Amino acid sequence: MNIFAGLDKIVKQNCPMADYTWYGLGGDADYLISPENTDQLRTVIQRCSENGLPFYVLGNGSNLLVRDQGVRGAAIKLQEDEFTKFDFTGCSLKAAAGAGLNKIIQDAVKRGLGGLEALTGIPGTIGGAVKMNAGGHFGDIGTVVQSVTVMDKQGQIFEKEKPELVFDYRQSNITARVILTANIELAEADKNELLKTVKEVWIYKKNTQPLDTKNAGCIFKNPRGMSAGALIDKAGLKGTQVGGAVVSSKHANFILTEKGCKSADVLNLIEQIQQRVKEKFDVELELEIEVW
Ligand SMILES: Cc1cc2nc3c(=O)[nH]c(=O)nc-3n(C[C@H](O)[C@H](O)[C@H](O)COP(=O)(O)OP(=O)(O)OC[C@H]3O[C@@H](n4cnc5c(N)ncnc54)[C@H](O)[C@@H]3O)c2cc1C
Repeated sequence: MNIFAGLDKIVKQNCPMADYTWYGLGGDADYLISPENTDQLRTVIQRCSENGLPFYVLGNGSNLLVRDQGVRGAAIKLQEDEFTKFDFTGCSLKAAAGAGLNKIIQDAVKRGLGGLEALTGIPGTIGGAVKMNAGGHFGDIGTVVQSVTVMDKQGQIFEKEKPELVFDYRQSNITARVILTANIELAEADKNELLKTVKEVWIYKKNTQPLDTKNAGCIFKNPRGMSAGALIDKAGLKGTQVGGAVVSSKHANFILTEKGCKSADVLNLIEQIQQRVKEKFDVELELEIEVW
């Protein structure tokens, strides 16, 4: 039985996830689906739910490690026009989940609207960033998001707004399966000051992170009051290699990949790091990246 009958135009079968992740790793997804509009998305989700087929929403794949075995089920990519548009009304921004963060930041800065500069250089989408409250040293997206529209696994759409909508360190309390849009409140600011901040954040990232490599950002969350990178460094793990996966010598919380690297190499290295940090400091490092 073809559970996606009538949707051939938007469904690819046995699709290599390596093409859809920043790591460039991972086996095939049974289905890669790119709906053109919300109605199609609802149909896809309802068919998955009715047929017990697992489904996952994919942003830019920049916080993701897909296993070599691939994804059993459907990866849904929100990349068509309806899912990538964004509009400013005064200081308010309404952005669809598939819109790219960096494009939005550039546009906001040009309009003299501040609030998103802290996210400069994060290669994600609005959906991916909101889901895990992306941010870092300079601030996070949760500070400016006022509400989101989401779709549950039955295809129902509803809105969640602050104070019910809660953001914490690298997490949100959004449990619905798909974030559709985010409403973000920005503030008028001096364009030159905004540009200066964007440059400062960018230079900080360039100096401290191996941005010119294949990676997925920080692998582990910072344990409360500590830096995961510093713990890994102090455990003497910079440069440690398993197969084609290497702990970055620039930032120990990044795992880089060399030619021929498999997802299994990254996963094995992750385990080694966790064991060593536990032995040395009695700290359990929790993953920041998602593993599918
Ligand atoms: C070079 C580099 C630097 C980075 N720097 C930072 C940083 O400074 N701070 C930081 O926080 N992160 C950083 N990251 C990690 C990553 O870019 C962010 O976590 C980003 O927000 C992920 O967005 P994405 O669209 O790529 O999501 P994906 O990686 O595609 O997905 C991540 C998670 O979000 C979910 N998701 C995505 N879209 C939706 C949606 N529409 N609805 C529901 N769930 C969704 C996915 O199912 C998955 O669970 C970095 C990554 C790289 C490669």
